[in-house]
Amino acid sequence: MTTIHLARWWQSENASDVRCFLCPRHCLISPGKTGFCHVRINTNGQLRSIAYGHPVTVNIDPIEKKPLARFMPGTKTFSFGTFGCNLSCVFCQNDSLSRGEYQIRRLPQYVEPEKLVEMALQNDCQSISYTYNEPTVFAEYVIDTAIKATKAGLKNVLVSNGFITLEAAEDLYPHIDAANIDMKGFSEAFYKKLCGATINDVLESIKYFYSLGKHLELTNLVIPGENDAPEMLEAWLDWVETNLDKNVPLHFSAYHPAYKMQTQRTPPETIIKIRDRAIERGFKTVLNGNI
Ligand code: SF4
Repeated sequence: MTTIHLARWWQSENASDVRCFLCPRHCLISPGKTGFCHVRINTNGQLRSIAYGHPVTVNIDPIEKKPLARFMPGTKTFSFGTFGCNLSCVFCQNDSLSRGEYQIRRLPQYVEPEKLVEMALQNDCQSISYTYNEPTVFAEYVIDTAIKATKAGLKNVLVSNGFITLEAAEDLYPHIDAANIDMKGFSEAFYKKLCGATINDVLESIKYFYSLGKHLELTNLVIPGENDAPEMLEAWLDWVETNLDKNVPLHFSAYHPAYKMQTQRTPPETIIKIRDRAIERGFKTVLNGNI
């Protein structure tokens, strides 16, 4: 019999349903069903995390690959992810994980948090990165691993879409030392149409993480014709300048056709132009990716 980890951030509703408060979707989940992210299941009126203890991809990466440009450069980070995501981006660059699903009767090997820390140390990593798919959906596993990693002298890195409730962020973010959070396109219409989400929740998460004094970097995947308009870029830079500061490293990445969106690649000159404009406006660290 497989034991699936009891989740946090939920309450019972209508006798046998559960309401999840981990992300702003607030899924109402019937018995035997999973939420939108496919990794949180109602088992006999309790919400459980299928992803907890079940990483599906593990790698040793340079920290710069997260990407983090100004956090422990030159070090290796022990990186893992599970299945599942709480967004539905049609341009997903990693859909085999984000849209992947566990088979309850054939779960991958259970890996306890202590084992992840041990593997990170054995491989001379100085941090653990919660990455590849969206770590919010396995936040309980992140927290338990991060507590043990911190005790062992490792740092914790979150690579996230930022779509999390403040309630859960207040439990998760204090355990994290550095994060790269995506801002996918600076408009509510973009998030609604292409990600099935709301930008305001993401911006609130970014502001909250920044307010904790943690190391923050931001990534914007630039998609031709969707989020590359100069006025959208200016509005994004205005927001960062007003709500954060110009020392926050900004990454602008080129889009490659993937998943359900098969439009053209982002021309390198578009990305370079955006970087030049951000530098011209006084942003201190501006990087391009995927070109
Ligand atoms: S974390 Fe998953 S189950 Fe919970 S509200 Fe978000 S999408 Fe729904």
